Amino acid sequence: MTQHTSHAMPDVGSALRLTQPTNGRRRERLLVVGGGMAALKLVEELVEQCPGRYEIVVAAKEQHAPYNRVLLSSLLAGEAQATDVELRPAAWYGEKGVLLLSGVEASGLRPARQEVILSTGARLGYDRLVLATGSKAIRLPVPGHLLPGVLTFRDVNDVSVLQRALPGSRAVVIGGGLLGVEAACGLAKRGLAVTLIHIMPRLMERQLDARAAELLKAAVERKGVEVVLEAHTAAIEGAGRTERVVLKDGRIFPAALVVMAAGIRPETALAESGGIEISRGIKVDDKLETNWPGVYAIGECAEHRGTCYGIVEPVYEQTRALARYLSGRPARYEGSLMATSLKVSGVPVYSMGDFEGEGAEAIIFEDEGAGSYRKLVVRNNRLAGVVLFCDTGDAFWYRDLIRQSTPLAGIRALLAFGRAHAEAA
Ligand SMILES: Cc1cc2nc3c(=O)[nH]c(=O)nc-3n(C[C@H](O)[C@H](O)[C@H](O)COP(=O)(O)OP(=O)(O)OC[C@H]3O[C@@H](n4cnc5c(N)ncnc54)[C@H](O)[C@@H]3O)c2cc1C
Repeated sequence: MTQHTSHAMPDVGSALRLTQPTNGRRRERLLVVGGGMAALKLVEELVEQCPGRYEIVVAAKEQHAPYNRVLLSSLLAGEAQATDVELRPAAWYGEKGVLLLSGVEASGLRPARQEVILSTGARLGYDRLVLATGSKAIRLPVPGHLLPGVLTFRDVNDVSVLQRALPGSRAVVIGGGLLGVEAACGLAKRGLAVTLIHIMPRLMERQLDARAAELLKAAVERKGVEVVLEAHTAAIEGAGRTERVVLKDGRIFPAALVVMAAGIRPETALAESGGIEISRGIKVDDKLETNWPGVYAIGECAEHRGTCYGIVEPVYEQTRALARYLSGRPARYEGSLMATSLKVSGVPVYSMGDFEGEGAEAIIFEDEGAGSYRKLVVRNNRLAGVVLFCDTGDAFWYRDLIRQSTPLAGIRALLAFGRAHAEAA
């Protein structure tokens, strides 16, 4: 267990008990479980918005201090260094009076006693509790999924194993969503011979329409990745470790390494142990509070109005709302409009709203030479959705048109050419 504390903070032994009031008052202890991007963002907001109001303790399973998970793809591809992913230097926590307990898993929750049980058996009391336990990567339960050499792509430990894969060896990535595409391109850049297997007829179907997905496939193939679509994995085989992936149609792909990038599932085990209400994620209301008063959930582990989010922007919107609320100001989180802004293997991609646009009008602009593509979906003369591939410079303008439901009269003819043209007309 690593502690990042200031001299003003108690040691872990005393941190386990709530301190007794000395002058009739003591600071409330806010315990945050999970040391990911949501947890750190919340702490940053609280030390900014209401410094000193809470005694903040963070219990984080990973040994590493909170880091930028989004940059793991760049780390794998060798485009970022370990120091680039660090979000705050170790000394920062102490300077801000935050007790960060790294390498500490919270394994049990007793909300009636306002305490969390750590995997060491120690108990940690709280006045308010924020669950920010994120997600875990799904391993498809096919035969062989636990063989050595079969990995997921979720944290720095996964990346350090992937980084040790030998150039020239063969890898199969299962799953053609964002993470699978990133993992495949990262491994190809490291010199591995990579096959990307996806069950759907196109890559990243949740973020891209058919044409953008086709362009992405071509971009990924140019990086040396073999892409196999509509492919159902039947088994992973090998004597003692992975050697090949077998598809249901009988095709076989040699694989000294298999990366499962088949989706994520909210990490709800701790909440469940405390009887907190769960559906897919930990259910929260517009205050980000669970069914147990004083227990909140944010980030990928939370389910708000039936939605669990899996990208950073909504996670940060939740975090800002909770920080406002915890610092004593009115705040409501009413959900996030899903926008995806990504660099997929070096290509900027943006999508938002109803980008499939079934039954709506679509304005399409494509520059084959530049490899750029735009699709704008129009309903009732308002922008309803957008997909941008390669040239995403006007993404925020399109986003605001969607959010504000701006009538397009006057700018529609030049909409596809971007803000500068449309507004100059
Ligand atoms: C490789 C990769 C690339 C990505 N790229 C993008 C991108 O380009 N754009 C984008 O928007 N999003 C991207 N994402 C998603 C983004 O990283 C997540 O949405 C974000 O990290 C979610 O933050 P979180 O704090 O909710 O969860 P996490 O970052 O997963 O943090 C949760 C933390 O809680 C810890 N924890 C869990 N249970 C316990 C427990 N019981 N006790 C103590 N600690 C516990 C976990 O170990 C983990 O460290 C990417 C994700 C990955 C894996």
